[in-house]
Amino acid sequence: MKLLKDRILSEGRALSKEVLKVDSFLNHAVDPELMYEMGKCFKEYFSNKGITKVFTIESSGIAPAVMTALQMNIPMVTLKKQKSKILNGDVYQTTVHSFTKGTDYELTLSKRFINEDDKILIIDDFLANGEAAQGAARLIEEAGAKVSGIGIVIEKSFQPGRGILEGKKYDVYSLARIKRLDEGLIEFV
Ligand code: 5GP
Repeated sequence: MKLLKDRILSEGRALSKEVLKVDSFLNHAVDPELMYEMGKCFKEYFSNKGITKVFTIESSGIAPAVMTALQMNIPMVTLKKQKSKILNGDVYQTTVHSFTKGTDYELTLSKRFINEDDKILIIDDFLANGEAAQGAARLIEEAGAKVSGIGIVIEKSFQPGRGILEGKKYDVYSLARIKRLDEGLIEFV
């Protein structure tokens, strides 16, 4: 997606060989028009897959996910990064390792928002090692539903996430794919 790549080049900051900061349009400030265009791109790619819901992981996936759901005219559900206090069988829960924080968190989904007929599109802001996407997929599959696609805003293709997800036969589509990062350097695939 050219619009996104241009924004990454003009405003993105490579903090190291591994981490890209895009605070001015995705992770802190959010550009609604850019999110709207992203929603259109995801809809175009995933439109013929019979998707029934868009799932995302709080919080930076919410903006692109809600725009995708709007374009596809289907509901959007946010997976919460919090341990449910009432583990009375009402929620699905799985442990995920955070790439940015280096710690584990519990990803939680209320059973009210999924059923086994659902075909789910997972949307997230970044793909690194694929931990967040795999955690989301575990919750969806535990509910007996299907992961029909994974849409990523920025994929760091030099990290193993895509390979791991494709190895599990998921259809991964990324709007921007980064080949190399270094201080002051951003290179696309
Ligand atoms: P993964 O679970 O694929 O290892 O990492 C993806 C998650 O970590 C995303 O949800 C995102 O929040 C965060 N993340 C991974 N790499 C980056 C990065 O380079 N920049 C930012 N801002 N977040 C990242």
